[in-house]
Amino acid sequence: MLDLAVLTLIATLLCLQSTILDAKLLVWEDGRPTIAFGPHYGKSMYEVANNELGYVNKMLASSSGDSAHLAEFNICLGLAILAEDEDCFNATISKRYGPAPHECDEHVEISLEVDGCRDYQEAHFVASCGICAADLSESIQEWADDREPDSEDEGWY
Ligand SMILES: [Zn+2]
Repeated sequence: MLDLAVLTLIATLLCLQSTILDAKLLVWEDGRPTIAFGPHYGKSMYEVANNELGYVNKMLASSSGDSAHLAEFNICLGLAILAEDEDCFNATISKRYGPAPHECDEHVEISLEVDGCRDYQEAHFVASCGICAADLSESIQEWADDREPDSEDEGWY
């Protein structure tokens, strides 16, 4: 069985690998896939793909056979045009290449799960990263366990 810590580490490494997409034609900038070359350098790919038809046509017409990276770039342009909205596009890119670089700690999403039956119930927190879905429950649990209960907390359960 894979240890939770190992899984978390793998998730972290995956995040690190995604700091720059393969050929740096496209990079994550403020959580948006951003074009990193040519006339639209520094602009959101989603916006360019949906507003700069001339550019898109030129890119798609260029012989992408010359470069696997360029072909990949053009696929992304197509994905940007087909995407329902920018969030969908970002999610697609994130799935394809790995999530945008981020600190999992800063995107913690916590939910409360209740186990048990009618007579005995136990609640525990389930925490995960909102971006890469890394399981952060253990660190949240440690934080909760370390916390010295105040006298006011008595009877909290
Ligand atoms: Zn994360």
